[in-house]
Amino acid sequence: MPTSSQNQGNSSKDVKISYIGLPALDVSVAFPQATPASIFPPSASDYFQFNDLLTPEEQALRKNVSVVMEKEIAPIMAEYWEKAEFPFHVIPKLASLNAAGGTIKGYGCPGLSITGSAFATAEMARVDASCSTFVLVHSSLAMLTIALCGSEAQKQKYLPSLARLDTVACWALTEPDYGSDASSLRTTATKVSGGWILEGQKRWIGNSTFADVLVVFARNTTTNQINGYIVKKGSPGLRVSKIENKIGLRMVQNGDILLKEVFVPDEDRLPGVNSFQDTSKVLAVSRVMVAWQPIGISMGVFDMCHRYLKERKQFGAPLAAFQINQEKLVRMLGNVQAMVLVGWRLCKLYESGKMTPGHASLGKGWISLKARETVALGRELLGGNGILADFLVAKAFCDLEPIFSYEGTYDINSLVTGREITGIASFKPAALSKRSRL
Ligand SMILES: Cc1cc2nc3c(=O)[nH]c(=O)nc-3n(C[C@H](O)[C@H](O)[C@H](O)COP(=O)(O)OP(=O)(O)OC[C@H]3O[C@@H](n4cnc5c(N)ncnc54)[C@H](O)[C@@H]3O)c2cc1C
Repeated sequence: MPTSSQNQGNSSKDVKISYIGLPALDVSVAFPQATPASIFPPSASDYFQFNDLLTPEEQALRKNVSVVMEKEIAPIMAEYWEKAEFPFHVIPKLASLNAAGGTIKGYGCPGLSITGSAFATAEMARVDASCSTFVLVHSSLAMLTIALCGSEAQKQKYLPSLARLDTVACWALTEPDYGSDASSLRTTATKVSGGWILEGQKRWIGNSTFADVLVVFARNTTTNQINGYIVKKGSPGLRVSKIENKIGLRMVQNGDILLKEVFVPDEDRLPGVNSFQDTSKVLAVSRVMVAWQPIGISMGVFDMCHRYLKERKQFGAPLAAFQINQEKLVRMLGNVQAMVLVGWRLCKLYESGKMTPGHASLGKGWISLKARETVALGRELLGGNGILADFLVAKAFCDLEPIFSYEGTYDINSLVTGREITGIASFKPAALSKRSRL
């Protein structure tokens, strides 16, 4: 049994493995066999030159995000992913990108185009999907809900510090017993003098273990409709515990939330959330952003494989010289081009006011399906190193799985589009609906 004198993590320097009874072995001789992802590979996936479709401002933002991610995040990501900890010290660097708040205009938010925001998301996910999820939950879910459904006073109070990332937000819809079926949620909001009492549980909520602002959805006990509330960190009766043992997005701090008679003043009820349809409006927009995460992940995996195959040799030739490997690499590249086109078109449909929930769901679902194929090819191409977080693809492979399932699983997104194109909702098995009427 080998015993390591230091976690190998990102740096292989000075790592010694001693086999019982044998002198210590310097594994830096054996590792790495190619440049690890801590020195991030150059971008090589823009084969069809989509960058030309962006405005100079969008190009500059994209470049800025990739520089910060490659310089600040790439060197530390394997270590923090392995520890399942969030690197709080990088929050100011992420804030310097001026991307939090995305498309929201005013209130200190950057007012980006949706295309600019989408490419910024992809550039983040290209290096590290956990960081992009941290920003998306904060920005495209929580901040957007406040911007679309909040009062003027709420926008002025909460959005500026959230845009600077001086405060962090989370977005709590899912419950232990209501995931895909979120519209049936059971957390309650009961009107009392001067405010509301929230009672219930939430599950999987990203950033919730440390968020200053929690956007929480609950069922109004008078109207039976879903309403939205802003709950502040430290509110009496609010408890959050971290979900452990995730196999993907390990840097993201997902929490179970317990709300026990939590008082929310009237001024913190979101006036624009009066039914589940209002929540769905936010989800449709944020799904466009989430669709760009698998695009970014696939770009990063392609870039990593592209470099790795040229560096590592077998049978006296670089891995890139083998036809089978080239075919896999080209299939990955083709997938990335197609994913970008679909994602780009989604942004344009949104900008022209033509995007429907079905469009967003088809985009998110299809892109995440193609990304699964892409990262699986990448994992194969790296052989044994394809299961090490140090070479990105194993980490990206795992990070894609929760993205395949959150913001609507692939199946649920298919059903949203299916309902739109057939006019028939097929979420609830017909047999069950019939039986419940008996
Ligand atoms: C890492 C991570 C982060 C998350 N972050 C957040 C967050 O910040 N905020 C938040 O509110 N939620 C969050 N979620 C929750 C996420 O949105 C749910 O996990 C997701 O909606 C799926 O719900 P579920 O896990 O309960 O799966 P289930 O609903 O139990 O589904 C299980 C399986 O059954 C299928 N299925 C379910 N219903 C149907 C149907 N009608 N027809 C066909 N197939 C069906 C699903 O597609 C899936 O394959 C997060 C989840 C994860 C894993």
